[in-house]
Amino acid sequence: MPNKRSNADLLARSLAAVWHPCTQMKRHETLPLLPIARGSGVWLYDVEGKRYLDAVSSWWVNLFGHSNPRINAALVDQLGKLEHVMLAGFTHEPVVQLSERLAQLAPAGLGHCFYASDGASATEIALKMSAHYWRNNGQPQKTDFISLQNSYHGETLGALSVTDVALFKDAYGALIRHNATVPSPDWREAAPGESAAHVALRCIAQLEAHLQQHHQHLAAFIIEPLVQGAAGMAMYHPIYLSRARELCKHFNVHLIADEIAVGMGRTGTLFACEQANIAPDFLLLSKGITGGYLPLSVVLTQDHIYQAFYADEVARGFLHSHSYTGNPLACRAALATLDIFEADDVLQANRGRAAYFNRAATPLREHLKVKHFRNSGMIWAFEVESPHADFAQRCFSLALQHEILLRPMGNTVYFMPPYVISDAEIDLLLARTLSVIEQLI
Ligand SMILES: *Cc1c(COP(=O)(O)O)cnc(C)c1O
Repeated sequence: MPNKRSNADLLARSLAAVWHPCTQMKRHETLPLLPIARGSGVWLYDVEGKRYLDAVSSWWVNLFGHSNPRINAALVDQLGKLEHVMLAGFTHEPVVQLSERLAQLAPAGLGHCFYASDGASATEIALKMSAHYWRNNGQPQKTDFISLQNSYHGETLGALSVTDVALFKDAYGALIRHNATVPSPDWREAAPGESAAHVALRCIAQLEAHLQQHHQHLAAFIIEPLVQGAAGMAMYHPIYLSRARELCKHFNVHLIADEIAVGMGRTGTLFACEQANIAPDFLLLSKGITGGYLPLSVVLTQDHIYQAFYADEVARGFLHSHSYTGNPLACRAALATLDIFEADDVLQANRGRAAYFNRAATPLREHLKVKHFRNSGMIWAFEVESPHADFAQRCFSLALQHEILLRPMGNTVYFMPPYVISDAEIDLLLARTLSVIEQLI
């Protein structure tokens, strides 16, 4: 590879050869594309040596910092043993260990792990598995799904059918099966004087009415527990989850918990479902599961799901595979990630970190142009009242000039930092964000 050490150079080559995700490429005629050369802890360094605090954990995947020595060591060890073997007809220590440990950590009964390589594939697997379960159980008409308004479960065609994003629906609607949505318990929708729990219960009544009417054709309800990430970090009361769990059981509809973003400690517990004390029929994990190192996703299922596929006929088995299913390197990164959770008592340490963050964020929370400041575990979000229609873009660019990587969604600014962020780095992040916002109001 040519060794050219300027940002502009790598930028031009990238624009010529790489089609970037979820990006109108033409915008990069004027907007910077950041050529990153290396990372360390919460920091990313560009080709010219400038640094940026990764306040969004590189699209919510990083947990313990970039280039973490412990995860690096596990991967180097695994590289010397086995980089990959197909998982049909073969097995290996990392995938077995990971499955055993996840089953032990997850809510009760989620004892069977099915692997894929990204979040959207985990959604596809759960939807297919749910409908196939009903087919195997003599109810082949149960093929519909419901999700929350403003839901996000990935961008492949099946996942888009349970994803409620207008931009996607407009562009790809003709390719997608129609599934209904039910109202989101997002507490920002509270009427004056209404509590988050009230909003949740109001939405539960609407869920119940929908289930009552449509349960005979419904396979599953898929939901992002506690925080709807792509909806703009919409947060809601856990009572919605516990009541939804009861209703789904009552109406014979599966509950799929998509913890791709919120799992692995993001909301303060290892899994968000724990805060509602529920066990879903399916639990989806990806993003943070490898500490942000390698693509891996897993669908954990209850034993009664697994048993419905266990038979002599091939067609009753679950028909799904990916080339890299259960990749040993990815599984080792995930095991190293779980080791860090244990060895450092990360959930406990994060409670202290979040408390510090919340104290330090007081000027931001109390700012006149900041609305709906909210926090769940290691996620913070708020809306900014700004006269700029292109607030998100301006905020992103200005923050970079202040050594901060923010990626606002509309007028929603959020922080989802790696769990290794120090008090000094929290102070720096909040002070710089405040000064960016001051320039945009
Ligand atoms: C990111 C995300 C997905 C999709 O995962 P990909 O790896 O990007 O396909 C699905 N659901 C939720 C809640 C997510 O945040």
